[in-house]
Amino acid sequence: MAKRDYYEVLGVGRNVTPDELKKAYRKLALKYHPDRNPGDKEAEEKFKEAAEAYDVLSNPDKKAKYDQFGHAAFEGGAGGYSGGMDMNDIFSHFGDIFGDFFGNGGGGFSGFGGFGGSASGRRARTASRGSNLRIKVKLTLEEIDKGCEKKIKVAKYVPCKTCGGSGARNNSFETCPHCHGSGVVTEVRRTILGQMQTQSVCPHCGGQGQIIKDKCRDCNGDGIVRSEEIININIPAGVADGMQLSMSGKGNAGPHGGVPGDLIVLIEEIPHDTFERQESNLYYNAFITFAQAAIGGSIEIPTLSGKVKVKIDAGTPSGKVLRLRGKGLPEVNGYGRGDLLVSINVWIPKNLSREEKEMLTKLDKSPNFQPSPSKQERGFFDKMKDLFN
Ligand SMILES: [Zn+2]
Ligand SMILES: [Zn+2]
Repeated sequence: MAKRDYYEVLGVGRNVTPDELKKAYRKLALKYHPDRNPGDKEAEEKFKEAAEAYDVLSNPDKKAKYDQFGHAAFEGGAGGYSGGMDMNDIFSHFGDIFGDFFGNGGGGFSGFGGFGGSASGRRARTASRGSNLRIKVKLTLEEIDKGCEKKIKVAKYVPCKTCGGSGARNNSFETCPHCHGSGVVTEVRRTILGQMQTQSVCPHCGGQGQIIKDKCRDCNGDGIVRSEEIININIPAGVADGMQLSMSGKGNAGPHGGVPGDLIVLIEEIPHDTFERQESNLYYNAFITFAQAAIGGSIEIPTLSGKVKVKIDAGTPSGKVLRLRGKGLPEVNGYGRGDLLVSINVWIPKNLSREEKEMLTKLDKSPNFQPSPSKQERGFFDKMKDLFN
């Protein structure tokens, strides 16, 4: 059958404006829409014919070729229309055709939100996204200090190997009988504004236009199966208890070839035997003898990267806090490190021999042993300030 002239199909003149063209196509698309003419082959042909005409005339490039060469411009070769337009291509145009139906961005049509994408995007199986997976990772302060890589075995849904994730046995699909392969269903209602047409995703096939004829036996048609996977997780230095890392696409596989969900890694910090942590700072309680406090000396302090020697001044009072700069944890954002705060405690012996008691009693009479606190040492709040200097 010879093709009709595109201008004739749409009932417009050769010098039609883009707006008039759109309007003419809209009218025909609504009139011949398959959902309004179920089973009517002629209407379907007219619907496709109008879509094809609009596709050419709305594209300045194609229109110029058509005006010069007629249908011959598109015969043979890629981009030809020998097989007619695919329904998916037609529906993919509806977003911009009906988007401004009421002059203000698609107020008239609900259910079009999901159709902004390209035709190829829609033709892909727009299956649902896989769910997120949550796991806990326990870390020591040493691991947090350096950052680490953890290999974790995760039980999760993976794509079914037998059917390649489609859920169909031997790739057996058939056209959805509900929407005739278009993936959308149309409802026409009469309202005070006139006829309103609502398009929505076909609930029968989920917008895919196809349904599975014969389910894959290994996954029962879901396209996913339970399995285990070893996942490498790179944990950056400086993370803290309760933080969550999100690994995009490492969660459960999506049914029917959908995109996988995310893997959410919850950080749990194992309490440390030696240090307490507050943000990027570490706290350590050091104990010195009465003689070290009075005479001075040096002591060893553990840090996450080995021991360091710290000088104790003569006359160091119990409760003095030393700050070892940069010996805390790295900031998780990568800028700088916290400090190690060392609280000095003078150890008071609990069990003394008779000789020791006698020696101490003798010393205790010395005038130098009598308490003579400075104003600062007496003042409670000043002392607190001193602690955190
Ligand atoms: Zn399968
Ligand atoms: Zn359907």
